[in-house]
Amino acid sequence: MTQQVQTQTVATSRGVERLVGGQFVMDGAGVKINRVLTQPLQRRLDPFLMLDAFGSDKAGDYIAGFPEHPHRGFETVTYMLEGRMRHRDSAGHEGSISSGGVQWMTAGRGVVHSEMPEQDEGLMEGFQLWLNLPAQDKMRAPWYRDIPAADVPRFTLASGAAVQVIAGSTHGVDGAVRRDVTEPLYLDIELPAGAAFDQPLPAGHNAFLYVFRGDVIVEGKAVPQARMAILDNARDADGVRIKAGAPARLLLIAGRPLNEPIAQYGPFVMNTQAEVFQAVEDFRNGKFTDSTAAAAAAA
Ligand code: FE
Repeated sequence: MTQQVQTQTVATSRGVERLVGGQFVMDGAGVKINRVLTQPLQRRLDPFLMLDAFGSDKAGDYIAGFPEHPHRGFETVTYMLEGRMRHRDSAGHEGSISSGGVQWMTAGRGVVHSEMPEQDEGLMEGFQLWLNLPAQDKMRAPWYRDIPAADVPRFTLASGAAVQVIAGSTHGVDGAVRRDVTEPLYLDIELPAGAAFDQPLPAGHNAFLYVFRGDVIVEGKAVPQARMAILDNARDADGVRIKAGAPARLLLIAGRPLNEPIAQYGPFVMNTQAEVFQAVEDFRNGKFTDSTAAAAAAA
């Protein structure tokens, strides 16, 4: 599949509303994570609920992995830069994800899954993004797809900017995954020093970037390594222009907000507290692992 790369430019760039450093947390059975997008930012960055960055060459930081745990009401997108992880879930999906690969899981009405490292040494680095589902889709059937690195569409521009299109589309290139309602854009962008990258964005879409190598400049504001920049929604801006100071690599993530209530309790993200209590009860009653019961509960 070869798609024609088109030139896209931005006349007026969004600026940086705020820089966020994230917070270190332990999750799973003891995995060290930088939680970049935390719960207080969910409303501002709607439809995105969480972004975790993990990266360590110390096995002790990741070896415990994420044993069986439930999810309901949203999607998880795991992007591995380096390392190997195996996924198994109660909907019968199993696969491993390795360097450069993406795993996209729609929890919908409920899955119980495990995400365990398949390495006991060396570097493990990557990201997990949580994308909310519209109210009407929260109880849909679970869905899952492994996208190996070779199947993630990529292109290089004359400026030297190398782009991997995980979701959405850019410069005429469609990404690995598309979603209608939230229209997520998820790019991994590598920039040589001095290069710039233009990404058109609808003004109403919430957008942020996370720099994981080097540093970049957006509208005169420096975004250092390991920082998230929340981009403003300036009405006269038609996108964002990202310039590399040093050679840089970053994620650019954007989507259309749902503007629906968000009720979260750990791995359950619904619209009301009552729906969250129901999720906890259904999980306790084994309805996530019994697909017939889950279907009945959804009906
Ligand atoms: Fe999980």
